[in-house]
Parts: sequence; structure tokens; C-alpha cells
Amino acid sequence: MNHAFRVADRVASLGVETAFVVAAQAAAHAAAGNRVFPFHLGDLNLATPDNIKEAAYQALLEGKTGYTANVGIIELREALAEEFNRTRHTSYTPANVAVQPGGKPVISKFLLTVMNPGDEVLYPNPGFPIYESQIEFHGGVAVPYGTVPGESNFTFDLDGLEQAITDKTRILIVNDLHNPTSAECSAEDRRRIAELAVKHELMVLLDEAYFDIHYNGQSASIISEPGMAERSVILYTFSKRFAMTGWRLGAALGPEEIISLIGKLNVNDESCSNHFVQWAALEALTGDQSDVRAILEVLRQRRNRCVELLNTIEGVTCMRPEATFYLWPDVTDAMKNKGFTGYQEFIGDVLKRTGVSMCARSHFGKPLPGETRNYLRLAYSGIDLEMIEEGLARFKAYLES
Ligand code: PLP
Repeated sequence: MNHAFRVADRVASLGVETAFVVAAQAAAHAAAGNRVFPFHLGDLNLATPDNIKEAAYQALLEGKTGYTANVGIIELREALAEEFNRTRHTSYTPANVAVQPGGKPVISKFLLTVMNPGDEVLYPNPGFPIYESQIEFHGGVAVPYGTVPGESNFTFDLDGLEQAITDKTRILIVNDLHNPTSAECSAEDRRRIAELAVKHELMVLLDEAYFDIHYNGQSASIISEPGMAERSVILYTFSKRFAMTGWRLGAALGPEEIISLIGKLNVNDESCSNHFVQWAALEALTGDQSDVRAILEVLRQRRNRCVELLNTIEGVTCMRPEATFYLWPDVTDAMKNKGFTGYQEFIGDVLKRTGVSMCARSHFGKPLPGETRNYLRLAYSGIDLEMIEEGLARFKAYLES
């Protein structure tokens, strides 16, 4: 290596998404000739609907292969604005939409646009690990708030959130329909979050990656609450709803002023998102939805079976969330029965002895003070029913032996 090369301080301490590390361990286990039951990664093993693939191919044939406007093609921005106005009661126009190469880039672009070094940013922990890593990468102070078990699902610890607000707090990140716990706000929670944001003049990132993965009717958004449209940016993604994780397309939606600054970041970063993929995304939003409904139905069946099987295992209890494709079973007693105190050793042993691969609490942020229970995260988006049944039967036999 060139002797002049020196790793920049910020990159040296940059965080990663540790679920990908679990994926690498699972791949190594499979490469050694073992069967792996993949409950670890939030990817889907379901095909993107044919009408979307055909629209991409057609766009390619029609020569939609050059640059587009930095914020995306007008047709897609119009369709996204309409989609939001219909489902979230906003009054967006295309000026409120900047298309992105995935949902994930919205996190850093939002922070770059509204956060100054030293600003405190409230983020969910357990939570999507990229919030903490991007806040710190850009010089902010990451302040966690937790989730708490409710009657039938997890909710957010809004008392803890409120107590964590200081005169330096500028930004709140909310991931209602939450990765990894599937926590979902009640109507009262949405109102309370909005009131806190307005009262403390916070800018808000609403990560709605799982808004459309809901098994019990239509999701509701915090953006519909009074005072939220002018202070919030929404992370939208085509990844989960349309089984398009690898296509890399999403969008930032929010106040015109912020969106035009995010557009300026597009100019500096990727110029524009993939041209023909934007036409496919237009078909995804406005075309035939029958395959999309079928995807949701498959996920629902997987959820039902996973929850049912997990709750038959001694020392394991699992809620039955109505959204996302993640389960967050409490395995405190199961770990104790097997004599494990650390997650890494536990999930490593489970993989080695059963082939079941999954993530743990430790992959979603450092434990908060006072946290005493142990949790795993099982994603059922990338594993068929048959494999779910065999994998969880092995997991049960392992834990009960
Ligand atoms: N936000 C959350 C909570 C997620 O779980 C994910 C992906 O797993 C993303 C955002 C980003 O998804 P993508 O970049 O594929 O749109």
C-alpha cells in the first residue's frame, strides 16, 4: 500500500449494518456443506412482480438509459405525490419529492440538510443501525430512545423519549412499523410524537420503509398529524412492498425547501437514480397490484406460522405484530436454560448446531441502561414456509434439549 495512505478519522469509526455480518457467517456455514435456515436478513426471496420487470425492460428498449432530472422523472414524482396524498392526507406536489437510489440514502441526506455538528438527534434503539452510524459520521450526538412491550405488540418508550429531549435536541428519527421489533404507534402515540416535535421545534425523519407491509388494513402516518408536514421528511422505499430490494429505488418527501437541498445533494452524489428503474417504479405504483397483494399474503402466512411455532418453545415468548416482516421474541429464559449470557456465542451455537441463522438485540444498538431481557430478531421475508417449519423445529429441539 502507498505509504502516504492514511484512513480518515471519520471513516475509521464508521459503523456498519451488522446483519450483513451475520449473513456472511451463514454463507460460510452453507459453503461448508451445511443447510442454513435464513431468518437473518431483511431481504425477500419473493420475485418482483412481472409487470414491474416488464416495464423496466420496455423502458430499456425505448432507450430510457440517459441521465434524468436530478430529483427524478416528473411522472414518478407526480405518482409518489398522489400516492402520499391518498394514503397520508398530505398535499404534496412533485416539488415535494426527490427520487433516491434506495431508501437508505435519505437518512444521510436528511441529516446533512438539517443537522449541524453537536446537534442532538433522538433515534430508536433497538433500531436500524444506520441511524446511529450516520448521525455520528456527520458530527451529531446520537441519543437513543427505546421500545417497550405492550399487550399484543411493542410500542415506543415515549416517556423515555420526552425525558431525553434537551435544549440541544434538534432532530427526531421515528421508524413507526419498526425494524427490528415491529413496534407500531397507536393513534394516541402518533398525536403525542407530533405534539413533542412541534413543542420542541424538532425536525423529524419519518422512516416509513414498512408502511405498506401491514396485515390488518392500511397503516397510518405521523405526517398526517397537525404541524408535521412542515417539519418532516419521509423515507420512502420501493424495496420491501414491491420486493425490489436490489433495484435500489426510493424517495425523500417533505417541505419543498428541504427537498430542493436534497436534490442538490443528488447532484453532488449520484447525479440521478437509475433511469429505466424509475419507469419500472412508476408501473409499481400505478399498475396492476395483484402480485403485490399476493406478496403480502405470503408474508402473512409466514408470520402466522412463525409466531405459532415460536410460542410452543420453552423459554420463548413472541408477540404477533400486524406489520413488517420481523419478529422479536423474548428469549431470556431460553438463553438462561442453555447457559448463555452473550448473544454472539448463543447465535453462533444455534447456527452451528441447527443451521438456523438469525440476528440478536446486539445487532441493533448498544443495550440501554436498565435493559434486562434478551431478544432475537427473526426475519421471515427470505424463508419459505417449509423451511420455517423445519428450522423452528430444529431450534425448538435445540433449546429444549
Ligand atoms: N429503513 C429501515 C427501517 C430498514 O429496515 C431499511 C432496510 O432494511 C431501510 C430503511 C432501507 O431500505 P432500502 O435502502 O433498501 O430502501
